[in-house]
Amino acid sequence: ELLQPIQSTKTTCPYCGVGCGVVVSTQAGKIIEVKGDESHPANWGKLCSKGSKLAETASENVYGQVRASQPLLRIQRDQQVAPTDWNTALDFTAREFARLIATYGPDSIGFYISGQLLTEDYYVFNKLAKGLIGTNNIDTNSRLCMSSAVSGYKRTLGADAPPCNYDDLALADCVFIAGSNMAYAHPVAYHRLEAARAAKLGHKLIVVDPRATDTALMADLHLKIQPGTDVMLFNAMLHVMMQNGWLDMAYINQHTEGFEAMAKGLAAYTPKLAASVCAVPEADIVLAATWFAQSSRTLSLYCQGLNQATTGTDKNTSLIALHLATGQIGKEGSGPFSLTGQPNAMGGREVGGLSTLLPAHRELNNPAHVAEVAAFWGVKQISATPGASAVEMFDQLEQGKIKAVWVACTNPAHSLPNSQKVARAMQNAELVVVQDAYLTPATVQYADVLLPATTWGEKEGTVTNSERRISRVLPAMPAYADSKNDWQIVVEFAKRLEVELKKLGVESPRINSGIHAFMPYSNTEEIFNEHRETTRGLDLDITGLSYAVLETKGPQQWPMPEGVSEGKARLYEDGVYPTATGKAKFVFAHYEPVAEEADARFPWRLNTGRLRDQWHGGSRTGTLAEFFSHEAEPVVAMHPADFKRLNLKPSSWVSVKSRRATITLRAKEDESVARNQAVLPMHWGPEFFGGKSGVGGVNALTIEAFDPYSKQPELKHSAVNIQRV
Ligand code: SF4
Repeated sequence: ELLQPIQSTKTTCPYCGVGCGVVVSTQAGKIIEVKGDESHPANWGKLCSKGSKLAETASENVYGQVRASQPLLRIQRDQQVAPTDWNTALDFTAREFARLIATYGPDSIGFYISGQLLTEDYYVFNKLAKGLIGTNNIDTNSRLCMSSAVSGYKRTLGADAPPCNYDDLALADCVFIAGSNMAYAHPVAYHRLEAARAAKLGHKLIVVDPRATDTALMADLHLKIQPGTDVMLFNAMLHVMMQNGWLDMAYINQHTEGFEAMAKGLAAYTPKLAASVCAVPEADIVLAATWFAQSSRTLSLYCQGLNQATTGTDKNTSLIALHLATGQIGKEGSGPFSLTGQPNAMGGREVGGLSTLLPAHRELNNPAHVAEVAAFWGVKQISATPGASAVEMFDQLEQGKIKAVWVACTNPAHSLPNSQKVARAMQNAELVVVQDAYLTPATVQYADVLLPATTWGEKEGTVTNSERRISRVLPAMPAYADSKNDWQIVVEFAKRLEVELKKLGVESPRINSGIHAFMPYSNTEEIFNEHRETTRGLDLDITGLSYAVLETKGPQQWPMPEGVSEGKARLYEDGVYPTATGKAKFVFAHYEPVAEEADARFPWRLNTGRLRDQWHGGSRTGTLAEFFSHEAEPVVAMHPADFKRLNLKPSSWVSVKSRRATITLRAKEDESVARNQAVLPMHWGPEFFGGKSGVGGVNALTIEAFDPYSKQPELKHSAVNIQRV
């Protein structure tokens, strides 16, 4: 093997929304090294601990233990799954889906997919559900990630489009980070910020976080607010700016609407009131408002602390209002920049892979959009009824309204809130199909059909990072064992489903000219080109892009319409917004508390978060021992005074009980955590805490209440009781 030539492939890191470029070296079909791509504009060659270990996590040794290698099937629920071949697995699934559709209608089916799928995979899944089957019950784990950011952008700026880019990290004079521990969750972007601060005298960094995270420790001003009080804080900051005449009235008058109502609503939000509700000094609120408004370029960065809340959309709109009111938008180094948690949460929304969307940011509640997509896809009709969002889908599965769920590239029994309910839902389902590269134990145990998929290093397509930048993903080694690419599995299934639907005479065929014309793809480029065409003339127009352009010119930011030579670095530089009037909107929101307030029975506020070296449910990062050197196991962190109050020792065990479940784990003292609060990492699932026996993982504790606009659940906060055991 050592005599074989070394090959080099440029692709993209599969972890977070920074979307770093990587160069993969392979020899004899095996990955031997992964380095940062020095030509990629998201990272210029830098990688974090997770990205730099991609070769190790893709080794044969690791894969032999954790990868799904062949299709598995059980015909009866009381049987164990057994190995089978692809034809048998897909034929069975198609027959069962057709039977359920014929008996109960298309909405008896649900697809729960993932922000880790590539854009092309997402596109065909969406087309299968909405075009061929006729259900909008397709949602993704992106719903848990940044759907509140989407609603926030759409309500205020008119489109789901982060207006900034990563170069703005170095151009800003003041950076306002809210609800994001970038140092752990977006490390390469964080290091760019660190470098910018070191190079710029007088740089200001404000961090809003209930914890003194590593990110907050870098700040010039840390606003250690009570969990969920962000809207109160942002409103008070705008109140201060108004009182002091720090607003950009010219910008407000020319480019926005709704400011009068906003100003009226803000009258009650004095810094004094906010200081008492948020539990931060009044002077700090005034200082934050001063720096935000008076710096020449202010950039906001925000993530799950704002998004994973029942008031997530309000938090986003209130923060965006600060930018609109001060004119800190549409220019270098400024603007509201939502950090995407997942590698391709953006791409999924671009193809409309959510229960409320259609391709290219079209909306299900817009009849013209519905008709356009039906005509483009060549289907008789697309249902205009919004489908079930992530939490709703598993609720409906538990209630028996949805009969079958197809889970792809995600682990809902670990990652959804109230995860025991999710487990019950899958137990109740008539059919659970799991399509995954990894044998994620929490969810795979419920699979009637397991379809092994390829993963990073083996697949091809595109992804979009947080700054709207589309990058190529290329294979460097062959598919593992008997796994297939996600898009291919969908296409092969769709062909079988059409046959089975015809046999049963179900609205047959929904599609105008046969399945071979409906899903004619023999490679991902054909899918990309079809997706590209759906964007023509819209805000995310990428008709100037192709695989060839991405490979020759490098990753590009959308929009990039036909005829232009490069993507758009920043949006709204002309002050024109994609709203009906062309103006951005102020949307005033009153402060509302968290869904589950602490009380006498559940007096602790539990905050969930991320660790530096782990990624989500750990299907990839959980395979390397060195990733556990930072934190070896889930430990609940609490303030030293609370630790003492419970009479705990360093190795003590505690029970953490919410209204939904109790888990038992070790506790530790942590100065970064505020009094009466506790912090738990989100990476350990039910298997760690006892698996099937009924004891769930961390998300067995969390609450499934969700934001009414974005439908994003409040994974960040729940009320618990903690006792020594
Ligand atoms: Fe991968 Fe994110 Fe780390 Fe970059 S910052 S190497 S995209 S995990």
